[in-house]
Formats: sequence, C-alpha cells, structure tokens
Amino acid sequence: MHPMDSTLQQSFPTVMVPRFGDLAPMEGAGERLLAAEDGMFLEVSRPWLRLVRQIGKYHVKTAVPYGLVAETTYLRCGKVPVHLIGAFAEMARATMPNETGAWVVWNAVTRDFRLAPVIIRSQGRGHLDYSRPELSADEVLVLDCHSHGAHPAYFSSQDDIDDVHDVKFAFVIGNCGADVPSLALRLCAKGIFEESERVPSDWYAATKAGRGV
Ligand SMILES: [Zn+2]
Repeated sequence: MHPMDSTLQQSFPTVMVPRFGDLAPMEGAGERLLAAEDGMFLEVSRPWLRLVRQIGKYHVKTAVPYGLVAETTYLRCGKVPVHLIGAFAEMARATMPNETGAWVVWNAVTRDFRLAPVIIRSQGRGHLDYSRPELSADEVLVLDCHSHGAHPAYFSSQDDIDDVHDVKFAFVIGNCGADVPSLALRLCAKGIFEESERVPSDWYAATKAGRGV
C-alpha cells in the first residue's frame, strides 16, 4: 500500500459494526466511519463530545453482515453554564451595532468552562473577521458564539462556510438592542449541521436585557 494511503487510513479508519457484540466507542480524539447493516455512520470523538450520525444509506437492499449502531450525542463536558451565555449577551449588547464573537471553552483536566473573546481583526454591522482565542493545551472549543448586531439571529451562508470543518456548537445572538434578543443554536460536526428548533429556555432568560452578568 502507498505509505500516504496507510497514513490516511490510520487517521480515519472504517470499522465494521459488530452484529453480535458491542461496538467499543472511540477512546481518543478522532473520526471513524462505521459500516453498519443500514448504512454508513460517522463517529466523531473529542475530549468534550462523542457523536454518531448516519451520513449515508445503501441504494441496494443487499445483505450486509454487520450490526446496527445508534445515533448518539454524548456531552462529556456536561452542560454549558448559562451564566456564560448571559456574559456573551452582555458583550454583544455592548458592541452594538457591530458584531462580536467569543468562544466558550472547556478545560478537559479541570472540567471548568470559561468565555474567551475572539481576537478581532475587523468588525462592522454585517461582518466579523477574527482569529481564534489563545487556549491552554487542555482547553477545547465547545460553543462558538457570535452576534448579529441589530439583525436577527440566523446562520448565514458565510456562517456555513466558516463552520463546515469544525466540531462545535455554534450560537448566534441577534436583535441585540431588544429586551429579548433572538437566538440561534446548532451543532456542527464535519459538515453536519443540526439546528436546534428550540434554544434552551434558560438561555433566553440569561440573555434578556438588564440581567447583568
Ligand atoms: Zn452569522
């Protein structure tokens, strides 16, 4: 085998889902393809997350001697503290009418979350250009937050381009001058986008004007 293929395949292996035994979850960080009875699944593992999603079905009803695997979302980090959502809402309000951004990061050793403002290169009423915040070796991105100033919260085509390779939650806060801003939240995982129909209600409570930090 070509050494480059050997390296590629080790970095992103395909695993046959057992029919009679259990599939052992990935231990470290990485990705695998899972060949199951009913199609192909992507497994993504990060210090803070384990995710399994179906990414393809077979076109032909042929017998595939593999087992089934369930779509899974397991947050190893637990819930994002809602006071950090409130803190970002305050940042977004203070930056009105311009856009701003910050990351909620999680330390896999101490298990603490913190809000890390992004390093802004340029910002305006309809754009934000930034570099990633400096993180310690144990910190990982969990929630990528940005604001839309006076505009409503939604995921733009530019957001889709920005988010396509990442594994994270993405959060937008819009109508930042309103007492109750608009919110949008989605899971991004290697091209999979799953927008939440309902942002958690305590996030709405935390982002209301006058809540303080
Ligand atoms: Zn946006």
